[in-house]
Amino acid sequence: MQLEQEVEGEAAMLALGAELGVALQGHGLVFLHGDLGAGKTTLSRGLIQSLGHRGAVKSPTYTLIEPYELGAVSLYHLDLYRLADPEELEFLGVRDFLDEHSLCLIEWPDKGAGFLPTADLTITIRMTDTGRKVAIQGQSPHGLAVCQRLNQ
Ligand code: ADP
Ligand code: MG
Repeated sequence: MQLEQEVEGEAAMLALGAELGVALQGHGLVFLHGDLGAGKTTLSRGLIQSLGHRGAVKSPTYTLIEPYELGAVSLYHLDLYRLADPEELEFLGVRDFLDEHSLCLIEWPDKGAGFLPTADLTITIRMTDTGRKVAIQGQSPHGLAVCQRLNQ
């Protein structure tokens, strides 16, 4: 199942992130594809703040990973753009949080190819003249259920 929608402006992107935060129900592995500046971090910020995070959501460009404890939800936001070798994922301890109890958002997942499991949800953001086109694809029973909730 694939959903596709036009998202015009940063505020609408943050709002979509918040909708995703509800639909994911606190867990899942989400891959975020799109060029530099597409809006992957903006979408993540909307999601993270909707789950109760106060203050800034830093892009994990240099730290590779930013962890959040949001009430009962353990969330990990990764940006693998600067990952030199997928094997480095072992040192980040991905094994420990890629479980069914965590919510994990990964920008540039291709950089971790071979060291990441299949995502529940794959999100692809494309730039358009007026804003962004966001495609959301469910790739597991959980991911499909998330798409169904988003579609209601
Ligand atoms: P990425 O993480 O994909 O590199 P960012 O989330 O940092 O991209 O976003 C880059 C810029 O795009 C930001 O200035 C943000 O405000 C803007 N932006 C995000 N979503 C949209 C949108 N739907 N329409 C227009 N601009 C957007
Ligand atoms: Mg980013």
